[in-house]
Amino acid sequence: MCKGELEKHKEVNEGVGIKGWKCKKCGETFFPSSEMLKWEVLTGKRGLVRKVRKIGNSIIVTLPKKLVKEEDIHKDDYILFERTKKGMALKIIHGE
Ligand SMILES: [Zn+2]
Repeated sequence: MCKGELEKHKEVNEGVGIKGWKCKKCGETFFPSSEMLKWEVLTGKRGLVRKVRKIGNSIIVTLPKKLVKEEDIHKDDYILFERTKKGMALKIIHGE
């Protein structure tokens, strides 16, 4: 925090690139939280992550086994997507 001029900066950590800013004066680097989260996801540091896939005309996201077990999710249950201030929340509605 020397208040030096910042320049765009990209570095690769554990094989995954991360974009942020670097101080021209002291060399300190800064990365926005969105970039940090993306980096954590792409390096496998976040557990419950699934990649979005496309099958035919459908966009598919599979559920992690751990989540299926813990939430007791079965075929014909419903998942309700709710936008919240913190992001998207999923609610499991158990069918008959
Ligand atoms: Zn600095």
